Amino acid sequence: MTVTEIDTTTQASDDTVTQAVRDARTASEWWAELTFEQRARRLDRWRGIIARRASELADVVHRDMGKPHPDAMLEIAMALEHLVWASKNARNVLGRRSVRSSLLTVNQAASVEYRPLGVIGVIGPWNYPVFTPLGSLSFSLAAGNAVVYKPSEFAPAVGQWLVRAFAEVVPEHPVLQVVTGDGSVGAALCLAGVDKIGFTGSTATGKKVMAACAGTLTPVLMECGGKDALILDADGDVGAAADAAVWGALSNSGQTCLGVERVYVHEQVYDEFIDKTITLAARVHAGPGVEDKIGPITMPSQVAVIRRHIDDAVSRGGRVVLGGLGSISGQYVQPTIMVDVPEDSLAVTEETFGPTMTITKVASMDEAVELVNASPYALGASVFGKDGVAVADRLRSGGASVNSYVMYAAVPNLPLGGVGASGFGRVHGPDGLKEFTYARSMTRQRFRSPLPLTTFRRTARIDWLVKVLIRALHGRH
Ligand code: NDP
Repeated sequence: MTVTEIDTTTQASDDTVTQAVRDARTASEWWAELTFEQRARRLDRWRGIIARRASELADVVHRDMGKPHPDAMLEIAMALEHLVWASKNARNVLGRRSVRSSLLTVNQAASVEYRPLGVIGVIGPWNYPVFTPLGSLSFSLAAGNAVVYKPSEFAPAVGQWLVRAFAEVVPEHPVLQVVTGDGSVGAALCLAGVDKIGFTGSTATGKKVMAACAGTLTPVLMECGGKDALILDADGDVGAAADAAVWGALSNSGQTCLGVERVYVHEQVYDEFIDKTITLAARVHAGPGVEDKIGPITMPSQVAVIRRHIDDAVSRGGRVVLGGLGSISGQYVQPTIMVDVPEDSLAVTEETFGPTMTITKVASMDEAVELVNASPYALGASVFGKDGVAVADRLRSGGASVNSYVMYAAVPNLPLGGVGASGFGRVHGPDGLKEFTYARSMTRQRFRSPLPLTTFRRTARIDWLVKVLIRALHGRH
């Protein structure tokens, strides 16, 4: 497969989507019959192909959505960590295991296993077109499902590349398929008879997906938008926090669900933090060249959103201390830092998805926690300070990194996902595997119960014994 063979224009019809799901149904039965080890071997070979051709895949990412090649390589490296975790751990997490029975059910051997749902529809965004969908694709597949994947129309080639690479190691059946096109293809996938939708994208689209899936009671995983904050306490490492804020806000041109868009800094270190952050951010330039650290804003419409947020902040008294409206040229937005921005400004309340951040002075960590928790979004957060864990414990967010940025998304054992407007359900880790399964409980009677309860042969003496047991087991509390 070469990059030039990839078709980036096809708009799949509703019939094509429905047929893909039908084909996936047959494929899912075959795939689910394989053992965990057999599936793991295929997933490992897929991983090998992605790793060996990572540079080619990074080129495809760059062409699709403009991310610099080294950042695409980093994304691939992180995605592979999760892929190997899923294939290695699927049996342990999902395979049948015995559980204890109780006094009343002492004659039963009880067990639970997590079975594949069947066919998963995965709808992905363009901003991390390898890392993000693989969180759903690899975990669905490792759990024994077939998948029909609808990539973003801004990253169709990456989706096709991944699916074709998979077909090289699983040529027998279309266990992983791709359907390309605009949002209407995603809408069709919701109605095509899948057993679950794994959605990653904006909160607004997530609501549409949920509404479409409600009609058939199709479950959904919602990985939606964020408005993540970084908090710096008076005793935190100012240099490390500035470095994390700059990377968190600017990398991928700020087009990161977990990007740092708001920073709350203790007044004692505020001025020092501002100086350090401006110095570091001023070294980052957005442009098309290999020397440019960040690329373009991928979706043309997003530039208008970024403009609106900066404009709104300034009109409400905010001050631009780096970048700003004048630094926007076409699809390129230079790093923009704003201070004194009121908390009800768009730049604080809505996802900007650009290389911008607001920095706000706080008098205490109580104030910082209150302001961070005021957002309906609750995906991730970073805290720098000696009591960072205690501060992070008070934040409402799906993940928190203390004295670093976003590391909870990189540890393969940890689940990733949000709360509130950031969605629900989890990718990665054990929760990420279970997300694409259903729990199946089983009991096997080992001997006849000395207390036959569920029968009309039950005697008055047994009824009396039940009363005694209720008091003995629960009445002392
Ligand atoms: P969108 O919500 O615009 O699109 C996401 C996906 O949904 C795309 O494939 C899109 O197709 C598709 N889609 C559009 N309309 C519909 C519809 N009516 N029914 C079904 N599917 C539809 O998000 P973006 O692609 O712009 O991605 C950026 C967003 O994703 C940000 O909000 C970001 O925070 C979030 N995100 C969240 C992550 C998380 O882990 N929580 C990770 C990464 C991103 P098309 O593109 O062709 O229109």
